Amino acid sequence: MTEYSVECGCGRAVDVSPTQAGTQTTCTCGRTIDVPRLSQLRTAAGESAFSAGAVATVRQMLAAGQCAVDGRCSNCGVDTNATRGVHVICERVHVADKSNSRGIVSIISFIFSPLTIGLWIAWRIMTSKTQPKETGRETVVRVPLPVCDLCQKRVSRTKNQRKLHALLRTVPIYAQLLDEYPDAQVIVD
Ligand SMILES: [Zn+2]
Ligand SMILES: [Zn+2]
Repeated sequence: MTEYSVECGCGRAVDVSPTQAGTQTTCTCGRTIDVPRLSQLRTAAGESAFSAGAVATVRQMLAAGQCAVDGRCSNCGVDTNATRGVHVICERVHVADKSNSRGIVSIISFIFSPLTIGLWIAWRIMTSKTQPKETGRETVVRVPLPVCDLCQKRVSRTKNQRKLHALLRTVPIYAQLLDEYPDAQVIVD
């Protein structure tokens, strides 16, 4: 697994693995270091922030039809050829929250109404067109998850992210994907 390094306050470069992204690590000097998000680690290492190793591998496997060829139900372990499409959202798009400034403006408008109410409405119309303000990007991969006929209904109803991660982790390459994106959101088709 690719190692990245983060600099400690003491000047040492501390090796971290992608699985440590977003967590903390300890330097030999005893200091606790916050490990940046994976995208930031990648950028710092001169790699493309969002072309994840596992994502690229999964996409290659999908293109070659090699994903989930093993055919063991991720839920009960029985041999099966049936699969269920699953979306893995690796990087969420962050939507800027404007509710605070909007709240303040509406209070002011209330106090000074009806003088400023027209202005406020105009402002709201203006800002509503530009919302939501998106920062960041998201990487979504749709993968086939081996699920036997008996488990299909049950798996399709599963919303619990921990359970869904556990199901995905029965396939090694998906486990690698989740190692790189521990906060990935999983949605069953
Ligand atoms: Zn240190
Ligand atoms: Zn099953």
